[in-house]
Amino acid sequence: MAAPLPFRTARRLVLEHVAAAQVPPPAEIVELTSADQRVLAQDVYADRDYPTLDRTARDGFAVRSADLPGRLRVIGEVRAGARFTRAVGPGECVEIMTGAPIPDGADSVVMVEHVRRDGDWIEYESAVPAGQFINERGSEATHDALLLRAGTRIGYAEVAMLAAVGCARVSVFRKPSVAIIATGDELVEPGEPAEAHQIRNSNAYSVAAQVARAGGIPVILPVARDRLGATRALIEEGLTYDLLLLSGGVSAGKYDVVELALAALRADVVFDRVAIQPGQPLVFGRVRARFFFGLPGNPASTLVTFELFAKAALEMLGGEPARDILFTQARLTQPYKHRGGLTRFLPALVTGDADLTPIQWTGSSDIAALTRANAFMVVDADRMEWAVGDWMPVLLK
Ligand code: AMP
Ligand code: MG
Repeated sequence: MAAPLPFRTARRLVLEHVAAAQVPPPAEIVELTSADQRVLAQDVYADRDYPTLDRTARDGFAVRSADLPGRLRVIGEVRAGARFTRAVGPGECVEIMTGAPIPDGADSVVMVEHVRRDGDWIEYESAVPAGQFINERGSEATHDALLLRAGTRIGYAEVAMLAAVGCARVSVFRKPSVAIIATGDELVEPGEPAEAHQIRNSNAYSVAAQVARAGGIPVILPVARDRLGATRALIEEGLTYDLLLLSGGVSAGKYDVVELALAALRADVVFDRVAIQPGQPLVFGRVRARFFFGLPGNPASTLVTFELFAKAALEMLGGEPARDILFTQARLTQPYKHRGGLTRFLPALVTGDADLTPIQWTGSSDIAALTRANAFMVVDADRMEWAVGDWMPVLLK
């Protein structure tokens, strides 16, 4: 068995292998109302200048800056959606509402709160610079500018952008299908009665939730019992999907047959051990042009290794570019020590102003502890001790 790879090395290998094999997935058209969280399959350009005209960013009066300070006559009003057809001459101004176009002749806006109004006259007591409170035509984007690139995951800001440029329908990549196979003689399904020596299959369901969040279509296949033939047959079925995720059966136990079944199918194994906790026996590779992950079976190992490795592969199969994993930083509320050598991803609670508190747990089978956490603290393999107040990277859950 090869030495376990450092976390960063293993992650880089996943990104490199998937990137090298990446072909853009087929595209489909969806309505804008169904576009959130999908991945753009088209570039999106500005269909006109944004803003299309010089517009006011405040309610107030459109003025000629050279006239101020001074007393100005209000010659009319312009509101959002309307246009003022006359020009503003010396000593004149136009009442204006947020979003309305600046009338010809005016070059600045004063806020309604800052003027004294007396019938058709206003008075303003200081000088104003030209351009004040004006969003200039084309200042946000010019006609034909590239606004969104293919491969961008659509979020609510992107939905706003698509709507603003008139994309009522949009081309997105088809979601990759993901086969999920849990392994183990001890497993029973959540809807079935479980005897004391049996364990409910939680991994298939947590992984399915993670797959759906990462933009894939999860398909839970039947549980593979711990026999070579049965496991191999299910893997064959799993290879008809875009990605194959297995849970369990990758440790060194007598009944851990997943790696044997993969070897029988002549899989290319890129790595089968990573120096992390939980999740050390993680397997990644390729069989017949399909990538697979053998996620270690303990529930925490399964969901952590999905987040750290399989998620990125799935995102790329869905048309997104490779990207770095994003850790934030939080400050320990208690000292922390470990033996080093492994990068640990431990359940933790981030509260208030980035305070980080590890959660007591019995180890990687402790699902209850995972539900009390909102993050995993990322414990550096090359450092052994941290004091109260030290910053530590954190992967938010
Ligand atoms: P394994 O990697 O197959 O040795 O499994 C490690 C531990 O995780 C064992 O205690 C298993 O019972 C447990 N486990 C394996 N698969 C699942 C699953 N699908 N759901 C919940 N626990 C599991
Ligand atoms: Mg097992």
